[in-house]
Amino acid sequence: VTDVHGARRIALQRAIAAKGVDAALITSLPNVRYLSGLASSNAALLLPAEGQPILATDSRYAGAAGDCTGLELMIERELAPAAVHTAVSRGWRRLAFEAQAMTVEQHAALTTIDGAPDLVPLGRVVEQLRMVKDDSEIELLTRACDITCAAFEALLPAIKPGRTEREIAVLLERCMVDMGAEAVAFETIVASGPNGAIPHHSPTDRPLAPRDLITIDCGARYRGYHADMTRTVALGQPAAWQLEIYELVATAQRAGIAAAIPGADVAGVDAAARDLIEAEGYGGNFGHGLGHGVGLEVHEAPIMGYGRTGKLADRVPVTVEPGVYLPGQGGVRIEDTLVVRAGSDGKDTGAAGPAQLLTTTTKELLVL
Ligand code: ZN
Ligand code: ZN
Repeated sequence: VTDVHGARRIALQRAIAAKGVDAALITSLPNVRYLSGLASSNAALLLPAEGQPILATDSRYAGAAGDCTGLELMIERELAPAAVHTAVSRGWRRLAFEAQAMTVEQHAALTTIDGAPDLVPLGRVVEQLRMVKDDSEIELLTRACDITCAAFEALLPAIKPGRTEREIAVLLERCMVDMGAEAVAFETIVASGPNGAIPHHSPTDRPLAPRDLITIDCGARYRGYHADMTRTVALGQPAAWQLEIYELVATAQRAGIAAAIPGADVAGVDAAARDLIEAEGYGGNFGHGLGHGVGLEVHEAPIMGYGRTGKLADRVPVTVEPGVYLPGQGGVRIEDTLVVRAGSDGKDTGAAGPAQLLTTTTKELLVL
């Protein structure tokens, strides 16, 4: 058995050494989990450029932390100050920290510690490492997506006039947990009729009605990994305008998936879908980005949107989720979670393979 967490820490240690700091203090909880395997609401990792890393957590997680291999344990209540005291005692002069996961107040407290090392922002180094997933991660994401699709498909017969958005959301969440999800990846969205025009609508007591389009955005969490899928279904025969925006969004979504290949610029992938929607006059009705990375967080790097920078690579899972939202009328969003794949030669250039689709529920418009 290879120690995936140890291999990830070695990659980070190289980056720490290259930055010219003695150690890094990792306080982002998903990053700590990625590097140690510990899922905790209070944990930190003190990782020297060379030598054994220290995993800090409080007594509630001492048992779970003890199961993490290759780490020295530190059981404390206030982790960051304890880590800085350790850095002082070991003579470390420059300590990188995660500015994105520390409050101004916490940072100020660290600088008042006697003999505190210089605190240098690490940047989103771990988030960058997390973008490309290993086999074990893709397996967990696949499982999360399988549960999501199975639960969604099992729920379809329950979508009937008179059921409320909240009822459907609760049934779907229950179904995901029954099918093996440890939890839901995020609050389920059920947006029916005119509510479909609100991209992140919270389910209400509105009863579903004939001729509604219903947008359902849901995902299961499985051993820390998040699935994310949206389907829009029709209750009874759809009107012409509903069919028109459904076909447009479906076409744009296919174009976005086709553009999601290794080496592709994230803004370019966004444009591949967005340009089609704009060309039909609905550019103003698609206000959000095309998609985002998924993994230990439901929204993580890379973010694919207008004005974003960065490139996709082999083994990067992302969502592709264009939508058209017509205020007062309704909306359509179609979202898949997929893994960007290189061709069989494994290289990032040349023959890119088709993306590996993890959410397999049909994208034909389901008329219920
Ligand atoms: Zn979603
Ligand atoms: Zn999403």
